[in-house]
Amino acid sequence: MKAKTFSGGFKFRGFKGQPNDALADSQIPRKVIIPLAQGFGNILEPMVKVGDSVKAGQIVARNDESISSPAHASISGRVVSIEKKNFFNREVPMVEIEGDGSAEYEKIPGHSADWEKLPVEKLEELLYTSGVTALDRDGIPTSFKSSVTKPKAVSDIIIHCIGSEIYNISLETLLAGKGLEKFIEGMKILRKVMSSSRIHLALNKDKKHVVEKIKSLTSELPWLNIYALAPKYPQGYDELLVPSILGKEFPFGYSAADIGVIVINVQAVIQSYEAVAEGKPLIERTVALCGPSMKNPQHIKVRVGTPLEQVLEGRLKGDKVRVVLRSLLTGFDLNDHSLPIDKTFSQIIAIPDNDDREFLAFLRPGLRDNSFSNSFLSSYVVANKTADTNLYGEERPCVQCGYCISVCPVKIYPTLLDRYLRVKVDETLLRYKIYNRIECNLCSYVCPSKIPLGSNLRKGKMKMVEVGCDQYSCIKPKYDLQGLDEYKGVKVVR
Ligand code: SF4
Repeated sequence: MKAKTFSGGFKFRGFKGQPNDALADSQIPRKVIIPLAQGFGNILEPMVKVGDSVKAGQIVARNDESISSPAHASISGRVVSIEKKNFFNREVPMVEIEGDGSAEYEKIPGHSADWEKLPVEKLEELLYTSGVTALDRDGIPTSFKSSVTKPKAVSDIIIHCIGSEIYNISLETLLAGKGLEKFIEGMKILRKVMSSSRIHLALNKDKKHVVEKIKSLTSELPWLNIYALAPKYPQGYDELLVPSILGKEFPFGYSAADIGVIVINVQAVIQSYEAVAEGKPLIERTVALCGPSMKNPQHIKVRVGTPLEQVLEGRLKGDKVRVVLRSLLTGFDLNDHSLPIDKTFSQIIAIPDNDDREFLAFLRPGLRDNSFSNSFLSSYVVANKTADTNLYGEERPCVQCGYCISVCPVKIYPTLLDRYLRVKVDETLLRYKIYNRIECNLCSYVCPSKIPLGSNLRKGKMKMVEVGCDQYSCIKPKYDLQGLDEYKGVKVVR
């Protein structure tokens, strides 16, 4: 077993509100809103109209001519509206379905538990029509237009579940029951589709028992490498998995698929198996409900398209709560609870919205406040830290502690870039590798002077484009990149 990593990073410890490993089935929702662009891919064409009856599992939108994957009705019922709404900063048509309460769904025709006997073309069709191919940052390649790359061009597949965020989906929960068996079969299916690839499984080294079990069950698979990696943030990013596992340079600003590498998560592999062997379209997924403002942090199975307000009903505690998707450092604020969850939701995090000002808060050791600095007592306390929205202090001048540099996973100098940007914007910033930024925001997190380095550098990148130093033209000549012209949509974050 191989152990690889990167320099820098930060291991989060002891935050309250970690989800327990139990998996609860949520109720069949009264209504769902299906965004016609879920996960990786362009916007889809609706195949239903208002008033139509639909069955759960039925395809309600697809666009085989453009890079995308079909979307399904996740409950049975009647289409009551098709309207455009703002969904993560893009106007996306949404099909609203009023449910009839039944839990049944239509299976995908042609699936087979004996999947090994199916030809590769059939496997690809099952993966595509199930909607599973929309998952992760670059989708899953098939002979359909489900990714920027094609199956034969994939040299490596990285499957990861490292858990380096403050809150993570539990590997044990995903692999419980038949999960592990499905996961191993799912890897074999993906290997059969992308037959020239090697599979690299990157797991959390602190979960020794799971890693050892998978290792013993897969020792016969010559194309599989297993890596136990330290769960330090942001190890789960494609930009770090590719160099630390494959030793390849990452084309910053582009994606792993552009250099023939597919990065997917464990849940996507299990769902690939369920699509092919059980005929299950991607109509539900496991979501971790986390954070100190969640009454009972746990994992739930939830139908795609369920409005967030239904998922959160009776689950939040406290008067002022901020709900965030995926990551406290980089995630989206989920302010509009009428919006639906889509295929990519993994963690929903609820934290107290705390805007109280504390005088000289940054000087207090605060046992419960997380701190990178070893001068704070809290850095030696590993439990009961409470995440909230407070910065605990105001922006002050840089004290040149160098913390932002020492944690930076891509070896840039955030403080230098920030100081230069305050004076001018020119090509010098290219030499300081401003475009290698991966937006992990760890520099802002550790800065004792509360300087918003992450957002300052992001704005700096935008100014660079304005003065003609375009990221893409800088990086493109260095690589042989695939599929750049076909996909113009928004890539989904991890
Ligand atoms: S972490 Fe903040 S205070 Fe320390 S060097 Fe970086 S910018 Fe300056």
